[in-house]
Amino acid sequence: MRILYVEDEKFLAEAVIHLLKKEKINVDHAEDGEKGLELALKPNYDVIVLDIMLPKMSGLDILKAVRNRGVKTPVIMLSALNEVEDKIKGLDYGADDYLAKPFKTAELIARLKALVRRPALVEAKTLNFEDLELDLTNRTLNGVELTDKEAGIFEMLIKNPGSAITKEQILAHVWGAENEFEENYVEVYVSYLRKKLKTLHAKVEIKTIRNLGYKLCSKN
Ligand code: CA
Repeated sequence: MRILYVEDEKFLAEAVIHLLKKEKINVDHAEDGEKGLELALKPNYDVIVLDIMLPKMSGLDILKAVRNRGVKTPVIMLSALNEVEDKIKGLDYGADDYLAKPFKTAELIARLKALVRRPALVEAKTLNFEDLELDLTNRTLNGVELTDKEAGIFEMLIKNPGSAITKEQILAHVWGAENEFEENYVEVYVSYLRKKLKTLHAKVEIKTIRNLGYKLCSKN
């Protein structure tokens, strides 16, 4: 991972960069807004970390300028606590995340990793197994529309054909932070998926592994 870090507080920047390097994160550092903008326009970075209060040009102005130029690199804004307005502006201008100062470097690293994992919105994505094609952009399976949950479950299965996926894994991945859920939700959605596979006369099936979960297999 390579990031651009725009920060004018020298000692803070040095301390953060030291810890990022330990995590094998490469850092280009800019100490003022103009230099920050110049570097931010280069297609070199996985994430840009922008302090808001900077000499020559503010972090918000850099953000606005890069987004206006069509740069889609994820941006984390840094700002002192209480600057709620800055936070709102940052999100309006297209920041992806926001971290209040003072922050723990471990927290910044966690946010960086989360942003790099997040797939780009425009990415067209299809996954194939046997005679099936799951289109994640249009959420269809061989042209048949899936619900959000069905697509989420099928994505896990088709990415790991032949391997068991537990109900817990499915709940965590597909339902995530939603509070009220039960394992039988998974069973219900898997039964919907089986019906759709049947309609498609698919050459694959979702097998139940007792007391564990499911796996996607070729028939025969
Ligand atoms: Ca500053």
